[in-house]
Amino acid sequence: MPLAPQRPFAGPPAGLCAGCAHRREVRNTRGSVFTLCERSRTDPAYPRYPPLPVIRCAGFTPAGGGGRVA
Ligand code: SF4
Repeated sequence: MPLAPQRPFAGPPAGLCAGCAHRREVRNTRGSVFTLCERSRTDPAYPRYPPLPVIRCAGFTPAGGGGRVA
């Protein structure tokens, strides 16, 4: 069976998570895409799979090094 073409992101709109450095995309064997919050590994205040879209989040960190440089 041929493989389905890959789409950039097939999940629901992620809101803030979409541009956050702590977001990791997880894809299951059926092609569903989930947003995993890496902050959940060290801080129980953050859900492993936050309900989307995330509108407000104190842990948001811009992806790509857009934060303040010391
Ligand atoms: S820290 Fe907040 S914005 Fe960033 S991935 Fe986790 S839940 Fe989403």
